[in-house]
Order: sequence, then C-alpha cells, then structure tokens
Amino acid sequence: MVNAFSYACSACGKCCNSPPAMSLPELFRHRDLFIGCIAIGRVPRKRLHEKLRVGEHEAILDDTDIVAFEAIADTLLYRAGDTFSITAQGYDYPSLARCPALEDDGRCAIHFNGKPVTCEVVPLDPLVPDALQHLVLAGRNQSAIYLGADCIQEGKRGDTTLLVAEGRIEDANARDALARRRASLAAEREVWGKAVFESLRKDLFDSPAALSRIPAGGFLTISIVPALLAVAGLSARCRELCLDYIDNQLGLIDRCIAQALLRRRLDDRPVTQELRGFASAYQRAKAILAVPVSADEHSNEPTHVSAVETYLSGTGR
Ligand code: SF4
Ligand code: SF4
Repeated sequence: MVNAFSYACSACGKCCNSPPAMSLPELFRHRDLFIGCIAIGRVPRKRLHEKLRVGEHEAILDDTDIVAFEAIADTLLYRAGDTFSITAQGYDYPSLARCPALEDDGRCAIHFNGKPVTCEVVPLDPLVPDALQHLVLAGRNQSAIYLGADCIQEGKRGDTTLLVAEGRIEDANARDALARRRASLAAEREVWGKAVFESLRKDLFDSPAALSRIPAGGFLTISIVPALLAVAGLSARCRELCLDYIDNQLGLIDRCIAQALLRRRLDDRPVTQELRGFASAYQRAKAILAVPVSADEHSNEPTHVSAVETYLSGTGR
C-alpha cells in the first residue's frame, strides 16, 4: 500500500460546516463573527503495537510513533489519566450546518483577512504525527463531510498537490500551516490553557464521573470566560481587551439568539440555553473585571505581560 495522498481544494465549502477551532487572538480579531467557547476533547493515549486502521490503510504503532504522540501530548495536550485537548473554538447552532464565515457562494469571507490557521491546516490534523497523516486523510476521504468533494485523492495526481507520501508532508505550504497551528496550540497552552486546566482540575479532570461526559473523540464545550479570566488579570491592557471582547460577544449572542427564535426549531433550544449560559458567564466576568487591579497586584514578569498583550492584540503574529 502506497501511503500517498494528493489534495486540491475547489473551495466548495463542504467542510466549512461548523465554526473552526481558533486561537484566542483569532477569536478577538473576529469577535463580531464567531461566538467563542472552550472545547475540551478526549484524545486517547496510543499504546505500543496498537493497530490503527482506516479502510485498507493500516499502521502498527512502533517506538518512534509513540515518542511522536507523547511529544504532541507533552506540548499541546493535558494529562489527566487520558490526554485531553483544551482549545478555543467558534460556537454556533449546529442546525445551521455552516461556519458563520461561509459565504453563500461557498467562499470564506475571511480568507484574505485573518482566516484561522486551523482552516489552513485542513485536511491534516495537528494532533497526529506527520508520519501518520495518511491515516487522517484516508479517514476524511471516507467521511460524509468530504463525500463528493473529491479534494483528497489517493496516490500522485498530476492536477493536484502531493500532500503526503511515505510518512512525509510533501507540500511546503501544508508543512508551514501545520507548524504554525502547533505553535499556536503551544502558545495557547502557555497563555491560558494550563491555568484553565488547573481551574477545572477538581470539578472535571480529577472527577471520573464528570470526565465520563467526554467520550473518546468527543468534546465538552464550556464558556470561554475561564480563559479570559486567566489573562485579564495580567495587566490593565489585557483587562481592557477582554472587556471589549465580552461586550462584542454579548451583542453577537443576542443577535444569534434572536435569529434562532425566528427559525422556531426545537433542536435549537438546547443551544439557545447554552448561549444564555455563555451570556450569564460574560456578565459575571464583567462584574469581576469591573474592579480595577492595583499596579502592585500585577506581579508578573513585565516581559511576560508585554508578550501576552502583544499576543492577544494579534500584533505579534
Ligand atoms: S470539502 Fe474539500 S474542496 Fe471543499 S472546501 Fe473543504 S477542503 Fe476544499
Ligand atoms: S473560517 Fe472560512 S475556511 Fe474556516 S471553516 Fe469558516 S468559512 Fe471555512
């Protein structure tokens, strides 16, 4: 079996069926377009000699594969028995079955204006070692989302870009996008992810009953407020950026709920409830952030504070 796949995106928009995972700066930049949340996903640990199989493609994990998975877990994930991802994410009504940035002609409205790096990585997966990306592509090729799009082809095709072959990412743009998304996930982990993980440790990560709500490959979505609170206390500038974000999000949530009420769909109701929960969490965060923190309470290293301010304003990318 030749583990080679080629790729050519025709911008049909089929895979833009929900808001993407994003970094906090990306959510800040597009604060009027995407409702932000935190997605907590279970990423089962891989075992030596475990067999991964997608259709006719198969891999039996060796030492090198396990080292690569462990390196990803150490830098991008969080360990609590199993491993978990904690990422910022856009949130919308699943009944709409589309990303809010998707235009009616199938194009991305922010393609030239801050398209999330996650979307540049498509159809690869930053949480899978490069040597096993062919399994990711084989899986996507069989999934309903990509059915009929014909953007992923097995083998080398003359009119498409050779994306992966024999355990290597062959396309330089794809390599660059993967590196940028992994760097972004690592930065998110340092800026707010570790703090959120610790804040949820008692009620979620140390509670088998609570953790059982997240199945393998599944996600739990929560308000993004814990991430905002993790950064807002660093400086007056960080607090200002978070408050501005919250105000914009409250307006966006109101508009999204108003449109949902006009649609009158039963399956929208739980989502509306969740969005009202997000709005309440934002209001509580506003009350917390309304109390200015005195200068001497900002005890963090100035270079760290400055780096986070630059990170959140998106001017350091
Ligand atoms: S389904 Fe394939 S062709 Fe369509 S937008 Fe997504 S990657 Fe591009
Ligand atoms: S941001 Fe653009 S590319 Fe990404 S899912 Fe939305 S429409 Fe598609």
